[in-house]
Amino acid sequence: MSDADHTDEFEPVQVFPTTEMDLRPGADDCYKCSTCDSECPVAAVDDDFPGPKFQGPEQWRLKRKDDAEIDDSVMSCSNCMRCDSACPSGVPLSQMHNTARGSYVENGMDKLSREYIRNRILSNYGTLAWFGSKVPRLTNFLMSSSVVQTVNERVMGITSEREFPEFAQQTFREWWEERGGNATSKKRASEAREQTGRGGAEVESDEKRVAYFHGCYSNYNTPEVGKAMVRVFESFGYEVMVPPQKCSGTPMFANGMLPDARRAAETNVAELSAAIEDGADIIASCTSCSLSLRQEYPELFDLDGIEDVSAHTYEALEYLRIHEDLSGALEESEIDSRKFAYHAPCHARNQGLAGQAIELLDGIEGAEAEDVGDSCSGISGTYGWKEEKYDTSMKIGAEMFHHMEDAEPDAGMTECPTCAMQMEHGTGYEIRHPLEVMEEALVD
Ligand code: SF4
Ligand code: SF4
Repeated sequence: MSDADHTDEFEPVQVFPTTEMDLRPGADDCYKCSTCDSECPVAAVDDDFPGPKFQGPEQWRLKRKDDAEIDDSVMSCSNCMRCDSACPSGVPLSQMHNTARGSYVENGMDKLSREYIRNRILSNYGTLAWFGSKVPRLTNFLMSSSVVQTVNERVMGITSEREFPEFAQQTFREWWEERGGNATSKKRASEAREQTGRGGAEVESDEKRVAYFHGCYSNYNTPEVGKAMVRVFESFGYEVMVPPQKCSGTPMFANGMLPDARRAAETNVAELSAAIEDGADIIASCTSCSLSLRQEYPELFDLDGIEDVSAHTYEALEYLRIHEDLSGALEESEIDSRKFAYHAPCHARNQGLAGQAIELLDGIEGAEAEDVGDSCSGISGTYGWKEEKYDTSMKIGAEMFHHMEDAEPDAGMTECPTCAMQMEHGTGYEIRHPLEVMEEALVD
């Protein structure tokens, strides 16, 4: 019998049953140094939370025994993903947490429970916002009413301590259509290439394209951030496309709603893949959106084009720093004199973008920016909106609030819309997005 015949007959023995999400090899890389635990903002203030090491590698080891259930403490992880970057051994902690949360919600949560219904509503904010934005004045009036807030808390478990974000009178997409959509952007980009000379040397022609992933919040609540993004990119000669899109899925991952996140990812990956085929890179103004497209999608789903979308996605300023002389353009610019207290969102840190906004603002005449430290803001998307998590969220945010107040700024600044909510809620300062400051500095 030949060697080849031996190979054909060989059948490896499966010691453990394999699953689509087999993360045990990652769990085995953990050597229990506890670095991740020391970086976890929830574990720092909540003695009942066992921390990322338990939620990740330990739960996965326990899962080797068929009868081990996912521990419900995984629902207390805020998905800040700080533990991911902390691990010196490359254990895929957030992927483990997301998968464990999905499994817990699927198998261990009563689908008629108040917690499940509340979490499903919060994690599908885009749907809620779509309805709210149809009658923004009425929605804003109702959501700011103390009666509605009390009912929300008693019935749904949504804290009444927070101010509900206002809906804009016109969504970003409505503004975009009214302005003339892609055709107008193409014209403006072309004019800017002739007039400003910015980036002109690298521009061939119409191929300088970006597809904007605005996410839910820039569309429904802060369209001025999306407008700033469009105007800044056009001033560098970029033609902006705005593909159809759904929520990035960030709040869905954080609440274990993986089937919802998968449906959103299917639309986003298909639409963004088509934009990439059209010669565009993907740009996000929210750092949680860019992290989701870059990291969580390929970690959790297997969809055609998902790796391509991940490889072509950038945070807006990161993209300009890579492809343009952004610092050079800012050195020639100025804004009305102001001091900003800047908070880097955890999801910006995770992408290596923590120092970027401060560095860029330092180059603008009139702008002064102070970093308020590396603590987590504590809100973590939907986390700080849950009645039972509100106090934890505020305890985590306390360090940032103190640093902001010590800085005595004219305004706060961050890229994450929910960090902005928490900064405003904890300190009362108005909060800006770095793109809005860039627009003031770079666009006439
Ligand atoms: S994602 Fe954040 S909250 Fe969750 S375990 Fe990791 S560090 Fe803690
Ligand atoms: S940091 Fe990494 S290696 Fe250390 S305990 Fe956490 S998962 Fe294990």
